[in-house]
Amino acid sequence: MHTVIVGGGVIGLATAWRALAAGLDVTVVDPEPASRASHASAGMLPPANEQLHDDEPLRRLYLASRERYPSFVAELEEVSGRSTGHRRDGVLDVALDAAAMADLDRAHRFHQAHGIRTETLTAEECRAYEPRFAPSVRGGLLAPDDGAVDPRRLTAALLAAIERLGGTLVTDRATDVLIEGRATGVRLAGGGTVTGDRTVLAAGCWTHLLGGLPPGVVPEIRPVKGQILRLRSDEPFLTRTTRGFLGGSAVYLVPRADGELVVGATYEERGYDTTVTAGGLAELLDKARAVLPDVTGLAFAEVSAALRPGSPDDRPLIGATSVPDLLLATGHFRIGVQLCAVTADALAALLSGDELPAPARPFAPTREAGVGAH
Ligand code: FAD
Repeated sequence: MHTVIVGGGVIGLATAWRALAAGLDVTVVDPEPASRASHASAGMLPPANEQLHDDEPLRRLYLASRERYPSFVAELEEVSGRSTGHRRDGVLDVALDAAAMADLDRAHRFHQAHGIRTETLTAEECRAYEPRFAPSVRGGLLAPDDGAVDPRRLTAALLAAIERLGGTLVTDRATDVLIEGRATGVRLAGGGTVTGDRTVLAAGCWTHLLGGLPPGVVPEIRPVKGQILRLRSDEPFLTRTTRGFLGGSAVYLVPRADGELVVGATYEERGYDTTVTAGGLAELLDKARAVLPDVTGLAFAEVSAALRPGSPDDRPLIGATSVPDLLLATGHFRIGVQLCAVTADALAALLSGDELPAPARPFAPTREAGVGAH
């Protein structure tokens, strides 16, 4: 069975690796693999976010991916011989105002109800963990079993694993999906076609723009711009992944072992624009400084902007479409790095002739938008 996967972001690459591991033949088509949202992403792997509080199916999917992540990454590191920068040394949420303190209480009750270990911390305890925190940090919530992954290392490891398992990478853009009663592959911008028994579309917020798709088969995937900043110091400036909550919004600060500190991110609906703006940068720096006043002394390393793939109901699309042999793996919005493990397993199961695993079933692309949401 030969599978063609369009899109080599974290979702397409993870799917390719798991399909190869299941013994399938795979070709990934992408002009520039691992270059878009997956390249910009912070790779934060927190135990939950507020989107999950009221959405039981998404919560089940998310928690299934959280449980799967350590073995997913361990196997990938072994096969690829590369580190993914995965760390499970805690995610610390800190509140800087009264409303945020109330939200942390709510989050703590949510974690307790779902078997996620979290500890509430006083302001002094937060500062004992992270002495650089601002005096305005009022209290926190530590999730000791959670952490982050470095998406750039993760995708490099996925590419290495795909190569090692005999997968093929075609560095060209797919223009059209070939459909003759069923999907049979794609046409390439550079000329020629790649054909296969199954075609998986994992082209992020560009998925619905592919030619040849019958109307209504792939919903519009909305680009949601995120600007993100990378700073650098000789020694790690922060010891663990931190989210700061203030004035109804959040900033996250993800340290890497090599001294990089990722500060993210904005949420902007501006179509396919990826301009880095002075306002975006100012917003990130202001929020980071509210949590860590000394952050402005760090060296500037990089600022980038990329597009999160948002489906009509902001939930992923995983599985078969109404066109035979055409599958989707997209719409992961702001949690695609977190969900890549469970998505890849689900697609590999389907491609191997098994049923979609239970946590992924509510996310079938043929659902009505919002069905299954609570
Ligand atoms: P992309 O990474 O966008 O990949 C799509 C791929 O498709 C690209 O490589 C592109 O070249 C290719 N493509 C497009 N058109 C074609 C075509 N016609 N033919 C062939 N290939 C094509 N998620 C988390 O879980 N944790 C985080 O901390 C986090 N932080 C984020 C921070 C920012 C600033 C942003 C922007 C996103 C963040 N996300 C995070 C979200 C996460 O990055 C995305 O959900 C995820 O990367 C989506 O992966 P993808 O493979 O679907 O899309």
